[in-house]
Amino acid sequence: MSAAPVLRLRGLDVHYGRGRGRRAALRGVDLDLAPGETVGLIGETGSGKSTLARTVLGLVRPTSGTLSLAGEDVTAYGPRQWRALRRRGLVSYVFQDPLRSLDPDLTLGHSLAEPLLLQGLPGKEAAARAREFAPRVHLDADLLDRLPGEVSGGQRQRAVLARALVTEPRLVLLDEPVSALDAAHRVKILDILKDLRAQGVALLFISHDLGSVAGTADRIAVLHHGSLVEDGPAREVVTRPQHPYTKLLLASAPTLRGAGGDRATRARLRAALTA
Ligand code: ADP
Ligand code: MG
Repeated sequence: MSAAPVLRLRGLDVHYGRGRGRRAALRGVDLDLAPGETVGLIGETGSGKSTLARTVLGLVRPTSGTLSLAGEDVTAYGPRQWRALRRRGLVSYVFQDPLRSLDPDLTLGHSLAEPLLLQGLPGKEAAARAREFAPRVHLDADLLDRLPGEVSGGQRQRAVLARALVTEPRLVLLDEPVSALDAAHRVKILDILKDLRAQGVALLFISHDLGSVAGTADRIAVLHHGSLVEDGPAREVVTRPQHPYTKLLLASAPTLRGAGGDRATRARLRAALTA
């Protein structure tokens, strides 16, 4: 017997705007994440990656299709049900530009304890659990008394991760979590994510750069103009991409040797896409 997927999207459409300004940001997206699975969601700016993440968090309402979390169909949930769901800490996220997502006036310890307080844990217990949890993301517990402005960028990033993970979520959405980091920090964060996967947490790892997720993801899904054009085992997507757009991404990924990285190949692939 296999466990219910942590995330299941079926025929998901999301539109922004009304009347003549109405635009599709997602079109008929089908996507599953099993417990412990890491899926890399790739696509260029404007392809709908953040819209998908925001929909899974209940911040954007699907126009049609269904969204299930851990076997629960949440498609029709209203704001109150979403708030209750969020408090359970089943799904958490690290958004783009995490370095700015900590309150500058709160100590790191306070920021870490906050999601636990929201779950109804008493202050002392929340603080103790935050302190206990910090080393799991290689964050020295002594740093918890400091403000975000008093620690390094890498330490802030780990605090943001710790805050997303302290409720022990089943699914974590990482929207371009490493793009703002230098190479040394990037490697550390990727190591932490590998540990998480071993603990059964499902990860949706969002990036515009295929190269940055290819080594981490079990599966790679590719968004192009709001449609999922490819979804397969990471190795297969990298070695035998099916869709011309995936081939273009591979050719453009600086860290991967895909379907040929030269300018002529990229120009040809781009032309094939717009034909
Ligand atoms: P990505 O994260 O891949 O860059 P987004 O999901 O942010 O893509 O955006 C997908 C499309 O939806 C883009 O065309 C973007 O301009 C549009 N869009 C995103 N958010 C909004 C919004 N709040 N209102 C209207 N259009 C939006
Ligand atoms: Mg985005």
